[in-house]
This record gives sequence, C-alpha cells and structure tokens, in this order.
Amino acid sequence: MFSTVCHCRDCQRASGSGGVPVLGVARSSFVSRGPIKQVRTKGGSGHAAVRNFCMECGSLLYGTPESAPELVTIYAGTLDDPADFHPHDAIFVAHRPAWAKLAMELVEHSEFPGT
Ligand SMILES: [Zn+2]
Repeated sequence: MFSTVCHCRDCQRASGSGGVPVLGVARSSFVSRGPIKQVRTKGGSGHAAVRNFCMECGSLLYGTPESAPELVTIYAGTLDDPADFHPHDAIFVAHRPAWAKLAMELVEHSEFPGT
C-alpha cells in the first residue's frame, strides 16, 4: 500500500532512531507465525499504536495501528532482504532531528501527507 520513511515521534521512540523505513500492507493479506509480544502505546493519531515484537530476539517486526485497522506496517529492516525495500517518500520530517537526514533524495512531507 505504501513505502515510506516515517519520522513521527512514535517511530523514533520505538526504534531509538530518527526515523523508520516502513511499508504498509493490507491486514487481510498479512500472516504472522511464531510467538509475538504486543505493546500498546499512544500513536500520533491519538489512537493506540500496537507494536509487535519477536519474543525470541526482541526485534520490532510490525505495527498494527488502531487508527487504521485494515493496515499492517512492516519495519523494512526486518525483511529477509532489506534491499528489496524502496521508499517512496518521507513523512513527519518536521519531527526529524538534523542528524537523521536521509542520504537519498525523497519527496518529503512535513507531517502526514494531506494533513
Ligand atoms: Zn511513524
């Protein structure tokens, strides 16, 4: 559905970085196997953002935002081959620290596109 680098404060806190490469897929097409730990936090929308971690290694794998129940957000660094990820744009760049500026040129949106 989308591929972006998100610099919202929730993604920064979740990753401990300035932004997260993330792709969105339809929840109806998504299957997760193996034990997952879920942590609920308040997302930028004001709704709960649910973070899903691998219970064996602790990696943050994907998000299931309650503001968009049809959506799963997969953190591109956890893909078998992260080189398969090609971000389309960067969002919430108004919240991006100067040290997290991207090396590649992307269309940038100050907040969420369209807001
Ligand atoms: Zn975000």
